[in-house]
Amino acid sequence: MSEDMYLTKIKIMTFLECPHKFYEENILGLPKVVTQAMAEGKNIHSFIENFWSIVNIENGEFSFPKVSIDGGKEQICIKNFLNFQKKRFEYLKSLDKLEYFFPLYSEIKLKSDDLLILGVVDQIDKNLDDTLNLVEFKSNKNENSASFEIELNFYKYLVENTLGLNIINGIVFFPFTNNIKRITLDGKVDIVSIINDIREHIKNNDFKHNKNCNCRKSSHYR
Ligand SMILES: [Zn+2]
Repeated sequence: MSEDMYLTKIKIMTFLECPHKFYEENILGLPKVVTQAMAEGKNIHSFIENFWSIVNIENGEFSFPKVSIDGGKEQICIKNFLNFQKKRFEYLKSLDKLEYFFPLYSEIKLKSDDLLILGVVDQIDKNLDDTLNLVEFKSNKNENSASFEIELNFYKYLVENTLGLNIINGIVFFPFTNNIKRITLDGKVDIVSIINDIREHIKNNDFKHNKNCNCRKSSHYR
């Protein structure tokens, strides 16, 4: 039954954008619109996931197999990410704290059966004071999206309920511009209520368009 489907970050964000779009994609099963930005984001995520398994820091040196940079958007993201990690490496090395270089988790799949949610957390790493960061990589250009708070709080809930880790530092890293946005995960976003509300709509088959919603412009309507 659709009432007990597992909700993901994308499904939740789709519902908040427009319940009717959620209905089309996840109840009717119409094909999802895959934008170029989404496809690029996927490539950058797989690069970063792979990075942690092939980066070499033996003998206090940072080495990484050469990647060809051709100036495209994905390549700019990769270049910025590599420079960022190199700087981080040098900094930690100067403090003799290289054990903090590798993340605790990278691209980890989590599933919580109490709220019926699942997702992939980009990264969890440790600060020098041993507090934890929940890191999301965003290849899109919109760095002021209000949805980041909901997204990171969704992952915070998932991590707490599966790994038992408490995380209050949310970090959104934009490899395209090399910017970082910090979000304090202090419980102001009530992710449980958001999810329960979505379940209620699914149960009542209530999927009206949001006011001023843009989803009629999506390819389903063309
Ligand atoms: Zn709509």
